[in-house]
Amino acid sequence: MPGKALALALMVALALAPKLQAQELPSQPPTREDLAADARLFVNISRNALDWDEPTEPFRMVGPLYFVGTKGLSSFLFVTSEGHILLNTAMPETGGLIVRSIRKLGFDPQDIAIIINSHAHPDHAGAIAELKELSGAQLAIMEGDVAAIEDGGRSDFHYGADWQVMGFPPARVDRVLRSGDTVTLGDVVLKAYKTPGHTRGSTSWVTQLSDGGKVYTVAFPDGVGINPGYRLVREPSYPGIEGDYRKTHQTLELLQPDIWAAHHTQHFDMERKRQRAETEGVAAWIDTDGYRKFIAGRRSAFEALVNAELGVEQ
Ligand SMILES: [Zn+2]
Repeated sequence: MPGKALALALMVALALAPKLQAQELPSQPPTREDLAADARLFVNISRNALDWDEPTEPFRMVGPLYFVGTKGLSSFLFVTSEGHILLNTAMPETGGLIVRSIRKLGFDPQDIAIIINSHAHPDHAGAIAELKELSGAQLAIMEGDVAAIEDGGRSDFHYGADWQVMGFPPARVDRVLRSGDTVTLGDVVLKAYKTPGHTRGSTSWVTQLSDGGKVYTVAFPDGVGINPGYRLVREPSYPGIEGDYRKTHQTLELLQPDIWAAHHTQHFDMERKRQRAETEGVAAWIDTDGYRKFIAGRRSAFEALVNAELGVEQ
């Protein structure tokens, strides 16, 4: 197996089967423990295996929603009569790719009026400062993640000590969001749900978008990922992290989107859906089952890690 495919298989295995034993994995790749012990290794493996820095063609998904991210990292543009909303900016080094994608679609990055985010880690908040500077956009961030956005990740509960690896250029927050707040521009209304766990202010977004005379509920879930080294129960990474994850699962289980998308493109099988959309149109993006399975999968991964910490046989 080529190195890249091997690393991807490893990442998938780590994400989906945390109780997988090291001896079941190929011998060379690092274990979850290795990745927990070395943030630089974790980032380097992830960015190579999951194509974080690889350019990809931008495209329209549904109604006013466009994909402008990299091959592995989502960045979404909502185009309205009043300007654009940008959700996520990928890595610090990939701001230029997002700008290029927006221009390629025929839009002006300077028309970005509002920037919002999924969570304050470098693979999603990396180029916020650059794009804010370029556009003069208002930056709206969920309380809980405001400090980390403004100090470039130094206050992150897990990666604060590794901010030289996991940090990103800081940006000033103009609007602090609370759960249930809405961000509105033109006829696009996005509702923000605080879904903490992965970071203290992880944010899931829900909106209604019309396309071809039909209205679709579109969700962007976040907060459920558990990185190597996170502690949930014993010596928790932050007090209350276990309860935060549980509340986040409940919040996300109540949502019933027609269409969903996540901050990592592999999570919602973007490539396959994008190819299908060429012939099927919007129907290719409808995936209520996929959403339910994604949340359920993340919940069982969480329970498995909780049990492992407690020494419960599985
Ligand atoms: Zn993250």
